[in-house]
Amino acid sequence: MTEDVRRVFRMDNEVLAFRFTATVSDRTSRTPRERLTDAARLKMWLGATGLDVTDVSPTDLIDAVELREAIYRIGSAIAAGEQPESKDVRTLNTIAAAGHAKAALEHERAGWHLTQTTPVSDALGVLATDAIRILGGPDRGRIKNCEGPGCAGLFLDTSRGANRRWCSMNTCGNKVKKSRITAS
Ligand SMILES: [Zn+2]
Repeated sequence: MTEDVRRVFRMDNEVLAFRFTATVSDRTSRTPRERLTDAARLKMWLGATGLDVTDVSPTDLIDAVELREAIYRIGSAIAAGEQPESKDVRTLNTIAAAGHAKAALEHERAGWHLTQTTPVSDALGVLATDAIRILGGPDRGRIKNCEGPGCAGLFLDTSRGANRRWCSMNTCGNKVKKSRITAS
């Protein structure tokens, strides 16, 4: 691997599906940043997530981005207390159903086995299934959009008081704290 994954992507979201949506950052800023700029980047992100695939085609990248944006829109709708678009729900369910990954416990950690014939759609199926688990799960009321400046990234607020405001304390939380210090 030539590039350091952590320099290219933000990998700190606890929820796999939301970590995937974080491959676009600064979503509500004037300059959103797309980090899945080509098929190689998608391969890199999947590998860093434990979903190793050998080849990723430009079509796979289009499918991945479609899934990612569907997850983002559904999550944001839920965070706003609104109904998600049925088109997005269909996309999510179709991609989840197309995957043939098998969960496996390996070295005390959860992993996945992908098929050799459709590894990328299997990997996307894992992401879609994780999204369904969160978006339709008992903690769906804790899904939030980050309040960091320009961020709006999705996160699951697991804090006891349900009062977390940032996708990550290390990035957005720190930015807000620093801007407060310079302002005072
Ligand atoms: Zn954020």
